[in-house]
Amino acid sequence: MKAITSLKISISGVRGIVGESLTPILISNFAQSFGTYLNSGLIVVGRDTRPSGGMVKKAVLSGLLSSGCWVVDIDIAPVPTIQLMVEELKADGGIAITASHNPVEWNALKFIRSDGIFLNSYQAEELLDIYHQGDFKKVENYKIRDVKKEDKAIENHIKKILKFVDVDLIRKRKFKVAIDTCNGAGSLATPLLLKELGCKMAGINLEPTGIFQHPPEPLPENLKSLSKFVKEKDADIGFAQDADADRLAIVNEKGVPVGEEYTLVLVVDFILSQKRGTVVTNLSTTAAIDDVANKYNCKVIRTRVGEVNIAEKMKKEKAVIGGEGTGGIIFPEVHFGRDSLVGIALVLWSLASKKTKISHLIESFPQYRIVKRKIAADSTKIPTIIKNLKEEYRDEKLDLTEGIKIIRDNLWIHIRPSNTEPVIRIISEGKTEKKAEEATEEILNKIKKCFKNKE
Ligand code: MG
Repeated sequence: MKAITSLKISISGVRGIVGESLTPILISNFAQSFGTYLNSGLIVVGRDTRPSGGMVKKAVLSGLLSSGCWVVDIDIAPVPTIQLMVEELKADGGIAITASHNPVEWNALKFIRSDGIFLNSYQAEELLDIYHQGDFKKVENYKIRDVKKEDKAIENHIKKILKFVDVDLIRKRKFKVAIDTCNGAGSLATPLLLKELGCKMAGINLEPTGIFQHPPEPLPENLKSLSKFVKEKDADIGFAQDADADRLAIVNEKGVPVGEEYTLVLVVDFILSQKRGTVVTNLSTTAAIDDVANKYNCKVIRTRVGEVNIAEKMKKEKAVIGGEGTGGIIFPEVHFGRDSLVGIALVLWSLASKKTKISHLIESFPQYRIVKRKIAADSTKIPTIIKNLKEEYRDEKLDLTEGIKIIRDNLWIHIRPSNTEPVIRIISEGKTEKKAEEATEEILNKIKKCFKNKE
């Protein structure tokens, strides 16, 4: 039974525990479905550093080749590097092999389309239909090609980033930077980027082994060793990435993690100070983004949670900057993927141009605290719970784009069903943690009351 419960097939791809639910046959069938979906096109494949990555990649390559695809293998690379390579090679799509911030025993396939953005929910449904029907394209054996290896993907990615930042200004500051790449996909790329930016770098967890020394999510509680290291090295700033290097968290020069939300706040402020335009972020990201955008008379558009939702909206609205409060920066001049390397370059550029310390820069922004909770709920009951909450709060200012978001003065609460598990997520933000906690409790009580009434 374990094998079934640990497999998650959803619009964000397929993930599971390797050797239990994520088997070579399943992986190969999914890759073959993608090859069928793209009609044997050119596909870029890359992976993070997990020890299972080599095996999963071989199964992916096998599935793609059997459906007649041309395949370019860039091997270990950040997810944004894979996304960018799809665009650079004018490929038809890509597969990123990574379970991002999940524990090491997990792995996953994420599907990228020709513009470097992940499949949206409609496209993912089409792919799932092909998989479930099992009607895969197979080519005759003499038409099966070989895999082409490409080792310039990281170099290309860094070159592209350097085109869009003031490299000379950053180099002049000779920043001392401490990094924690979490033994993940950023381990190879990040030191190269920092070298190009003239930084003196010191790092921990730099070996690309996929053996994580702490949970691979750059939350403050996982950054204790980086905090210590920043102080030891007397660094100007510390950066932490997750295992596939799309998320970026900052530790200030005093060794204090500033929280992932503020990576996006800082970058939005800096980009808008140079170029006015629309900002796109999701409903669960800090209101400090709105405060910063107001300062520049710029519009903020909020989308459903999920990278593809933000990326598609940014493209449509020609946004100048966007991303997610979980440290995911999307800077469209480089590409439409969440990119921690882009984030590092923009944060350093901002610091260099403002000639201040990172702690002062962060303190200059409006301060809020976010509390995130989840509550287990039978998935058949979740729509009723959300409906009841909409009724209960109908007289308040609401955003109903996804679940329900209640917006008050200096406080908001976003309640939404999870896309990946049978839980309701409650994200609250207030001026203090206490205010956010109180708001969360209020919602939890309403939900409990709803359960009781149904019994
Ligand atoms: Mg990630």
